[in-house]
Amino acid sequence: MERKTIYVTQSSMPLYEEYIEMIRPLWDSHKLTNMGDYHNRLEEKLKDILHIPYISLMVNGHMALEMAIQAMDFPKGSEIITTPFTFVSTTHAVIRNGMIPVFCDIKYSDFTIDENKIEALITDKTVAILPVHVYGNICNYNKIQNIAKKYDLKVIYDAAHAFMEVINGKSVESLGDASILSFHATKVFNTIEGGAVCFSDECLHEKLYNLKNFGIRSEEEVAAVGANGKMNEFCAAMGLCNLEHIEKEIERRKKNTFHYDEILSGKKGIMIRKRNQKIKYNYGYYPVVFSSQEHRNKVYTKLKNNNIYARKYFYPITADQQCFLGKYAKVDLKNAREVSERILTLPLYSDLEEDEIDRICEIVCKVQ
Ligand SMILES: *Cc1c(COP(=O)(O)O)cnc(C)c1O
Repeated sequence: MERKTIYVTQSSMPLYEEYIEMIRPLWDSHKLTNMGDYHNRLEEKLKDILHIPYISLMVNGHMALEMAIQAMDFPKGSEIITTPFTFVSTTHAVIRNGMIPVFCDIKYSDFTIDENKIEALITDKTVAILPVHVYGNICNYNKIQNIAKKYDLKVIYDAAHAFMEVINGKSVESLGDASILSFHATKVFNTIEGGAVCFSDECLHEKLYNLKNFGIRSEEEVAAVGANGKMNEFCAAMGLCNLEHIEKEIERRKKNTFHYDEILSGKKGIMIRKRNQKIKYNYGYYPVVFSSQEHRNKVYTKLKNNNIYARKYFYPITADQQCFLGKYAKVDLKNAREVSERILTLPLYSDLEEDEIDRICEIVCKVQ
């Protein structure tokens, strides 16, 4: 029997009619971009939902990250302490800003930056810490904040995986000097392509606005050097539609996650993640750590042969990517390498059916 191909994720979309209804007025206004009504409405709505004072929507998560770093006005050649266990965008954003990435190892327990290894990496060139809430596991923000305070460093969180998460009653997006979100089609909440910088210092607002809109302040005045990072109205409209269903989206992901847990917990050679009771998760990913690299690769191949596409997120670690290799300080990244060799992200999205999860798990458990 021919079975449906299952990818690691499937973009969530509103009903066709809902989106068409939403974009219909654009044919009257002809206002397709440049901070239009939908752009502004989405900013207001997100501030409300995420409990943050300021947000700046961007064309994608990567530009949000680049522009957040740029808005901090660090001297060129400064060092930013970051994690190599992330999507390559995080490392690119540091380097494309003329900064030097200093990689810090991660914790085996939740794959986030090891806050106890940060201080040893600080030099007189260090200006910031750029941690990632990997798979929605939230970094030890208290400890990171204390280090930042002690050494007068900025903290910029790559929160691309942590949309709408809450820890100890605090919104994740409110952490650090800035938190970056991605609204890419593959994320829990999408605007097709899109992203945002969340922050609490009002000064950043004008800087980010200049960076994303060519520094234009009025018809005849360009006040700063900037680029084009604006989110257009079609993307903002998609975001407004998707926000209507976000609670249901997360609820269904949660149900699917628990179904995986039920089947995979306690299985030999398979480590599923422990959840922190203090975190309200968005259930964006289902990472599994296998007993060895060989075990992981076998599972990956076996799934692929059954038209099920799991992903080796994040393998290899960014520090080992060809474009960075040998260019930056060598640090012991033992945990990051080990996790990346043994991890596999299984398919997870709201429309994934329980019997599909059963089928995936059956294949996963058969491989020894
Ligand atoms: C998706 C992602 C990004 C980049 O976001 P885009 O919207 O795709 O540009 C950055 N960092 C992490 C950790 C991501 O997962």
